[in-house]
Amino acid sequence: MKTIRLKPAKEKSLQRRHPWVFDGAIAKGGADAGETVRVESAEGAFLAWGAYSPQSRIRVRVWSFDEGQRIDAAFFKQRLRQALALRSPLQIASNGLRLVHGESDGLPGLPGLVVDRYGDILVAQFTSCGPERWKDVLADALLELTGLSRLYERSDASARALEGLPELKGWLRGAGETACVIHENGWQLGLDVELGHKTGYYLDQRDSRRDMADYARRFGFQQVLNCFSYTGGFSVAALAGGAAHVTSIDSSGPALERARANVELNGFELARATFLDADVNASLRRFLAEGRSFDAIVLDPPKLAPTVAHAERAARAYKDINRLAFKLLNPGGVLFTYSCSGGIGVELFQKIVAGAALDAGVDAVILQRQGGAADHPTALAFPEGEYLKGLVLMRRPD
Ligand code: SAH
Repeated sequence: MKTIRLKPAKEKSLQRRHPWVFDGAIAKGGADAGETVRVESAEGAFLAWGAYSPQSRIRVRVWSFDEGQRIDAAFFKQRLRQALALRSPLQIASNGLRLVHGESDGLPGLPGLVVDRYGDILVAQFTSCGPERWKDVLADALLELTGLSRLYERSDASARALEGLPELKGWLRGAGETACVIHENGWQLGLDVELGHKTGYYLDQRDSRRDMADYARRFGFQQVLNCFSYTGGFSVAALAGGAAHVTSIDSSGPALERARANVELNGFELARATFLDADVNASLRRFLAEGRSFDAIVLDPPKLAPTVAHAERAARAYKDINRLAFKLLNPGGVLFTYSCSGGIGVELFQKIVAGAALDAGVDAVILQRQGGAADHPTALAFPEGEYLKGLVLMRRPD
């Protein structure tokens, strides 16, 4: 077994159960990609077992803090069992579910592994060297524990490059159609695990979409604008809640085609929906110039600040779209605004949105704070895993 010796006083974060060791904390030692290493303090005391990533700044990701733990097939099966047990009491109102959420599952979870379930298809993303090395073991255990037979790999995340791993995509176990329909909050939603973003769909926003339907029902939205609509999850939700009309904007043509199909699949007349293959920022400016206004607006942009280093530029981009949205919002209207940037915390996000309202000359109050759905938990010792935050804001009625 290879050993990684830390520099003096670098054991603190591991002792707090944080699951990462950065390259700068290491005094000596090395291993092959994904190999299990023993991490020790400068004094030689055991700290953790982890997977070694020779090229990544995150040089070791912890598998276990228990010295007696063997890192073998039985260990991975047990961790997967724990991930499933974490979710079984949640009673998620969908058959689209995140089963494994990397480090964020706690314990410290399964760093570098994300697994989503869409009906009877499992989709896995292996983002670091550890899970990459144990891929076959993990794949077999996943099928055994879920009783399913099909597992699609979506290891085409850009994070793989930081690990020196190539992007991979395809069936790992089983084969067949990559398109499927899941049910969520009582709606039918079509997606494609091969062609969709990430693993196919944004499961983390499930609760926010349910909330949208509730607000639409209570507020009686007439005109709804769904920006960054992807496959139209929020659009279907708004229509289900009784919204008269929803305009969906996305810069991905295939995503919009699916959004249109999803509106039809749920039995809503297409006359109640408009789909714009366009840039959101430009569209908001155009709507403003045309004097349009809306009763509800969703802003769910892609990750603009992956890390704190990108925060400043991202903050300007968030502020800009939020300012435009506030200007387009009718008095008494509701803005659903999100950030999935790990580099922008809850407080900063609120500050940005407050600045946007101020610049727009709009007075708004927070009706609700939102976050990722419960199958996307945050580990107490890994707060940086909390990436998704949302604010539901009401523009004060005149
Ligand atoms: N709200 C969606 C998820 C949004 S993901 C849901 O509930 O499923 C972000 C989306 O923004 C992606 O579909 C991407 O294609 C789109 N996008 C990224 N940049 C864009 C831009 N400048 N203008 C319009 N859409 C954009």
